[in-house]
Amino acid sequence: LQGLMQDRPLLISSLVEHAARFHPEAEIVSRLPEGGMHRTNWRGIQRGAKQVANALQTLGVKPSDRIGTLAWNSYRHLMLYYGVSGSGAVLHTVNPRLFPEQIEYIVNHAEDQVLFFDVTFAPLVEQLAAKFTTVKHFVLMASRAHCPQLNIPNLLYWDELIDTQSTDYDWPEFDEKSASSLCYTSGTTGNPKGVLYSHRSTVLHTLMELAPDTFGISSNETLLLVVPMFHANAWGSPYAAAMVGAKMVLPGQHLDGASIYSLMRDEKVTFSQGVPTVWMMLFQYLDANPQLDPSELGVKRVGIGGAAVAQSMLERFENEFQAEVVQGWGMTETSPIGVVSKLLPKHAGWSAQELLPVKLKQGRGVWGVDLKIVGPDGQVQPWDGVASGALHVRGPWIASGYFRAEGGAALDDEGYFDTGDVATISPDGYLQLVDRSKDVIKSGGEWISSIDLENTATTHPAVAEAAVIGVQHPKWQERPLLIAVVKDGQQVDKQELLDFLGERVAKWWVPDDVVFVDSLPHTATGKLLKVQLREQFGAHRLP
Ligand code: ADP
Repeated sequence: LQGLMQDRPLLISSLVEHAARFHPEAEIVSRLPEGGMHRTNWRGIQRGAKQVANALQTLGVKPSDRIGTLAWNSYRHLMLYYGVSGSGAVLHTVNPRLFPEQIEYIVNHAEDQVLFFDVTFAPLVEQLAAKFTTVKHFVLMASRAHCPQLNIPNLLYWDELIDTQSTDYDWPEFDEKSASSLCYTSGTTGNPKGVLYSHRSTVLHTLMELAPDTFGISSNETLLLVVPMFHANAWGSPYAAAMVGAKMVLPGQHLDGASIYSLMRDEKVTFSQGVPTVWMMLFQYLDANPQLDPSELGVKRVGIGGAAVAQSMLERFENEFQAEVVQGWGMTETSPIGVVSKLLPKHAGWSAQELLPVKLKQGRGVWGVDLKIVGPDGQVQPWDGVASGALHVRGPWIASGYFRAEGGAALDDEGYFDTGDVATISPDGYLQLVDRSKDVIKSGGEWISSIDLENTATTHPAVAEAAVIGVQHPKWQERPLLIAVVKDGQQVDKQELLDFLGERVAKWWVPDDVVFVDSLPHTATGKLLKVQLREQFGAHRLP
């Protein structure tokens, strides 16, 4: 017996339509890549998205064609989010921080037909334009007046191509399983891989992102979107903000502490999402400007993911901002919500000290994401908070395979995707990331978590940032090496740091040696670039 409910497709265009109808005046504020601030609202975004859709039609774009973007967070990128996907084409957000060869590979692999780019990336596009074999039109996301002389064929300008279009456009209806957007993983090994989202997966994921037990975004929120729109759809927030009509603040490429702080203050931001690296820059700015009092900003919550939240960061947000930290774990392949960290009723009345280890875990399962941890022997591990295993996930917004991948599906026989992360899960459902499978240090048949050691090292007052890698060892196979950056004006020596760790971690976990460096390399998405560290320090001679 079939239910008798309407079978309406879940389409991304419905989000911007809702926002324009019920929250037309909610503001979208952008710091522009070409300089200056820009203010519009959800009605303006909807109109601009329709102009984008009309423009794509004039360029001959067909359903399912891929449209690339090389762009920061701005209202124009938001118009593309809705105009491209809403019209049935596929928005391919290219990560501009990747190496040029990777960008060339990605654009050609995706077969992008049109490439929109911010003025910041004009030199990059000039360098690569001739190598993009499928791109027919390049569109500068600024007016012709803002443009230096560019050596790019078939170059169009936003003001001439988009602003001149009609704002009348009827969004087409089509199968909700149609592809909506495409995002390549950074590809720390081998070529980047394309994750192809659908309208259905995106809308379902958006609903979960709004839930009070995840990020709890509502129309009363002002959301500062620090996580880039080229990184896993900015964690889905451009869609979530539309579904509830929240005010959104888009910082462009200005992610330094001073710029973020002033946006928080001037726009009365209540919620912001970003990776730890960006928050580290914000705290460095606060350290240099002790007269500032972030508790006056009114930031209520901060969403952090992409890398583990260090204790010091959690405490500084709680104490200095009076803000709640909402940690999430996920990846490009998971849209990205996998688990989100929120407290349960039973935690009421716990002391700050008792709560700390709970809050530092990556989070609990949400509806829609099945979790399992698999031991080295293929056995499913118990949820006892001790046994660790490869983390596998399954659900309607988890990738089933990669776009145009030779290898076919990436799932196990129960339909789970292997995340490449190693985790434990406690009896009450809190997942704790032990490490990435390739970063875990294998010492004498046991595993040492590089992340745990890094987090512990950064609780030392003189340590700004730390990385731990495994170095070959004749007896133990691998032993940990700590690579640390010391804060400006502070001092700590090797023995002091090792003693500090010795008091906080198991004896056999204490690194065999410490190397001090001026800075650590990061990936395009702000994570420690362990591959480079292993190349650089893998042959380090342990004492
Ligand atoms: P890429 O895989 O291209 O580096 P992703 O953003 O998809 O980019 O990275 C996902 C990975 O980031 C996860 O597999 C995990 O290792 C790490 N990660 C994400 N969130 C957290 C978190 N809260 N704590 C620790 N690691 C995290």
